[in-house]
Order: sequence, then C-alpha cells, then structure tokens
Amino acid sequence: MPVSQKRQLNRSAELQRRAENLLPGGVDSPVRAFRAVGGSPPFAVRGEGAYLWDADGNRYLDYFGSWGPMILGHAFPPVVEAIQHAAANSASFGASTPSEGDLAELVIDAYPSIEKLRFVSSGTEATMSAIRLARASTKRDYIIKFEGCYHGHSDGLLVKAGSGVATFGIPGSAGVPDEIAHFTLALPFNDIFAVEAAFAEHRGQIACVILEPIVGNMGCVPPVDSYLQALRDITQREQALLIFDEVMTGFRVAYGGAQELYGVQPDMTTLGKIIGGGLPCGAFGARSEIMDMLAPLGPVYQAGTLSGNPLAMAAGIATVSHLKEHRNEVYARLEALSAAVADGVAAEAARIGLSLTTNRVGAMFTWFFAANSVIDFESAVTSDTATFARFHQAMLDQGIWLPPSQYEAAFMSTAHTMDDVAHTISAAKDALQGLAEK
Ligand code: PMP
Repeated sequence: MPVSQKRQLNRSAELQRRAENLLPGGVDSPVRAFRAVGGSPPFAVRGEGAYLWDADGNRYLDYFGSWGPMILGHAFPPVVEAIQHAAANSASFGASTPSEGDLAELVIDAYPSIEKLRFVSSGTEATMSAIRLARASTKRDYIIKFEGCYHGHSDGLLVKAGSGVATFGIPGSAGVPDEIAHFTLALPFNDIFAVEAAFAEHRGQIACVILEPIVGNMGCVPPVDSYLQALRDITQREQALLIFDEVMTGFRVAYGGAQELYGVQPDMTTLGKIIGGGLPCGAFGARSEIMDMLAPLGPVYQAGTLSGNPLAMAAGIATVSHLKEHRNEVYARLEALSAAVADGVAAEAARIGLSLTTNRVGAMFTWFFAANSVIDFESAVTSDTATFARFHQAMLDQGIWLPPSQYEAAFMSTAHTMDDVAHTISAAKDALQGLAEK
C-alpha cells in the first residue's frame, strides 16, 4: 500500500470515540492519547518489520517500536514462532519453568554486574522492587533520582518524572502522599555537585541513586563525560547503592547496555522492554548477596502471579539470543541507520535555518526543537513543543510515526533500511520547510 499523503482516519476516529467511553482518555497509557501532538491517534492493527498499519489501512514507518522492545522489528519470525510454540504448551503455569533459567542465563552472561535476577511483568515493578531491596539492604530510607528520568509509575518514583509526567506538565502525581514523596530527592541530571550536596545534607540516610544512564524519558539525554563514573565513586564512598535503570537502554545501546558502553558497573540493574521481546516483562538484578535478601530466602517480599510468564520468556529468549548471535552486525547496523537519519534530518533543519538540537546514542535519539544543547530537564523544556507537535503531525501525514511527545526518544530496529532513512529525511525536509514557512 502506498504511503498516503491525505490520510483517512475514519475508523481510528470511530474506535477512539468508543474507547473514550470505556477507558480514561481512550487509552491504557497516557502518551498514546496524542494529547501533546493533537489529532486522532491511529489505531494499530498490524506490524511487520519496520512498518505499522492502522485500522484505516494507512501504513507507517515506525520510529517508536512499542517504546523500545521491537529492536528486531514487528512480527520477527523467530519471535512469533517462539511465542506460538510456548502458547501451545499453555500460556501460564504459576510454577517454575525451564525458560526462566534460560533467559536468566542469557541476561546474566551479558551483564557482569548481575549475579542473580528476578523477573517481573513491567519496568515499573522492576524499579519499585529494586528500590525496596536497596532500602532493605542499606537500612536507609532516602533515594536520589533525577528530574526528567522516568522509572515507571510507583509512588516514590513519580516525583519530577519524565515521559508522560513531563509531557502533560504534571509536577508529580495526585494520590502520592507527601510522606512518601518526602523520601525522594529529585536532583538535576548531569550535575555531580547536586549529588554531593544531597549526600552532605543527608549523610548516612541515602539508600540509593537511581538513574537512566542515558535518559530516554525527557527525550534522549546522554550523560556528560565521567558523570556515571563520578556517581559510581560517590555512591561507593557513601555506601549507597547505584541503580542503573536500563529498562530502555538494556540491549538497546549495546548488547550489555549503557554499563557496557560506558564501562561503569552499577550495584543493581533494572531491565524491561527488549528482554520480553514485546511481551510484558521486566527484571531486576544485582550481586547474589543483595538478591538473596528477597523472599523466600530473605525478609524482602516481592512476588507476581505472572512473573516469568512462559510466553514472555520465549519471546525474550528468541530476541536476546538473536541479538547475541548477531551482536556485531546488529549494533553496527543500528548505529549506521540511526546516525544517517538523525544527522540527515538535522542537516535539513540547519539548511532551512530551524533550531534543532539532536541528541543520540546508538539507535535511541531525539530531535529537540531547541536552540541550545539539551543536557538536563531544564534545558529539555526550552524546546518549542508546539512546533514539535506540528512536525509530528506533518511526519505522520507522510507515513512516518515518531513518538508523540517531544520528551520521548525515537528508536530504530534492524528491520529499518537505508531506503527508509532516505524516505524519512525527504519527508522531514518537507515537514520542516512547512514549519519554516508558517
Ligand atoms: N524505566 C524506564 C527507563 C522506562 O523507560 C520505563 C517505561 N518507558 C519504565 C521504567 C517503566 O516501564 P513499564 O512501562 O514497563 O512499567
């Protein structure tokens, strides 16, 4: 089907009207509602490789990949087969299965900082459980997080969070008692002095520092030189735990995640997205001495009816083993494709004279409609979100589906091609020209 210039969205609009009567905002996760960019959200009905089709039959080149998991593209045949095979043996047992050990072995082999891990069903559960464990193992209550980082929607982690919380300008969340938010110290990202000051003020009280080592949830914001190492040094000195939330970056920016890319080993790691191959899955892991504090061995309670679900394990094993086997070519290809599209669009903006700041690490990037460099939340929010919204709409009209918020990272998959990149740059040229003329 050709990419339509004038998209009809009759069926999607109808489905949205129905959904709004049934689900708050018509969605199960806020940013899907397109509130920040306007227009009716297309309802996805099929995906194959780098493409998505909506309920009206429009085709889109996908730059959000289910928000990260689809690194091998949609309906990747080995993943589909693995899910089908697992489903034929029953979708769930609530008993231990061999597949949990198989995926755990793959993950532990890729992340030397992890000796043991536990599977959960979402990134939210992974970070929430990691924090509980960090508090139990240090016997301290305060945690440090960073403004614009998103670690899921558990109470203590929504303070000054990124992703939809930033998109909709919500300062935290209603329904979180001050007594809980009080224990979360939210500091500016990439500012090591702020971390030193917090430790000085709360000496002996801070259980952990949690961060996205490369932030994706205020748009893509990489760590400045030696920032991660400085966090490692401070947390070690203060006997607090360093938690890398690699739900987004794990198996994405490198096979061994940001910790491999930057050569900094955290105490704990949280994972999600790619390790479930598109099915609900998360994990948190650390040294055995920390992980063995979990029930049934230790006093920290954590559980899940569907944790380690056999379908999620099967999809994760198929995805991760493909990445492992083709590791060199996969990450080289993702780098080449992403560099070409990110730089290509940036060059078109520069030629037209539009302010665009491009941040990218591997196949994870953001075009900020901002004049200056974006290194933290304060600089991210200087972006012109109204212009971003018009750009998003103009790209969608040309069959290119970017994440529907300025404060999210775009992702590429191994299914994208250089032809897709060329098409994207040409569409962006038209879209940016349109913005410049208005
Ligand atoms: N941590 C990070 C870094 C994330 O990007 C996300 C989700 N985008 C989460 C945690 C929460 O994961 P989930 O939506 O699966 O609960």
